Amino acid sequence: MKHFFTEGILNWNTFQNDRSMPWKKEKDPYRIWLSEIILQQTRVEQGRPYYERFISEYPTITDLAAAPDEAVFRLWQGLGYYARCKNMLAAARTVANDHAGIFPKDYTGIAALKGVGAYTAAAIASFAYNLPHAVLDGNVYRVLARFFGIDTPTDTTAGKKLFTQLAQDVLPEQQAGTYNQAIMDFGAVVCKPQQPLCKSCRLAPRCEAYQKGLTDLVPVKSKKLRIKKRYFYYLLPDNGSLRFVRKRTAKDIWQNLHEFPMIETPGPVTTAELLASPEFRQLMGKGKFTVTRESLEKKQQLTHQTIHARFLHISQAASMQPPEGFRAVPASELDQLAFPKIIVDFLKG
Ligand code: SF4
Repeated sequence: MKHFFTEGILNWNTFQNDRSMPWKKEKDPYRIWLSEIILQQTRVEQGRPYYERFISEYPTITDLAAAPDEAVFRLWQGLGYYARCKNMLAAARTVANDHAGIFPKDYTGIAALKGVGAYTAAAIASFAYNLPHAVLDGNVYRVLARFFGIDTPTDTTAGKKLFTQLAQDVLPEQQAGTYNQAIMDFGAVVCKPQQPLCKSCRLAPRCEAYQKGLTDLVPVKSKKLRIKKRYFYYLLPDNGSLRFVRKRTAKDIWQNLHEFPMIETPGPVTTAELLASPEFRQLMGKGKFTVTRESLEKKQQLTHQTIHARFLHISQAASMQPPEGFRAVPASELDQLAFPKIIVDFLKG
């Protein structure tokens, strides 16, 4: 059964896999690592131009390590999950400073880099050096769960252990890199989350889920993802050509990106309610403020939360000072700072 599975995946890869990706067959561990970091939580189509821009701007890991934080964050802008970018820079600097710019060549050394989890370490180790470490991502969980008919929830300790062992058992040690890429492609192209192509699948004769009509029921997850709604009201004090900005430092989304003065509320509020709130007074100080313009609501979907944002232009007779922690920046220089996507979209108009 395991042999049939492994051979099936390898044969499908040889004769039918035409999924193309710019980093496929890549052997340079820097490029593989970069593509894997970009693709964590990002679709291939979205990540591809970022990968190409990073490679062109920073051809080696030493170039990336030497780049100023702000320049790298700007290049990353739009990908979200900025902790990934921060970890990526930290890892590049570790390789540059502690490994003389040479990417680690063994699994333990790779896994020790910041932002590199078990999946990414296995991907780099197998793609770059053909080391026998099985990758386990959403695609692999799905293919294994369906073919072997496993209904143990994938997000439990028992499930993770079982799938990790099984993934390793079916890995052909001599062809680890090719097989790892093949099973992920197979999951993305054939054994897809919705409407898998079972009728033309070479694994179908022995696939438990297909034979028993369970393809919609496995893999199983024990918990449902809860999406939290957050309401952000950005204030743009009308102070000539100046905007007030600060870098987000709290342990929250968008750490290290910039923002305008902002009030977060537990639910949607009207403009009048916002202006009368103690949070507004605390941020903007005393005086009579008017809203001269306001945007429609903009939305940004993150993995665990939805951000609802509105942008309000605020005017006051007296010249306004930046709220505490903010600095005044000419509007013409905003494009030199990294902002979350929702603000970038607003600035683009
Ligand atoms: S038969 Fe269907 S469910 Fe089974 S491995 Fe093939 S595509 Fe996946």
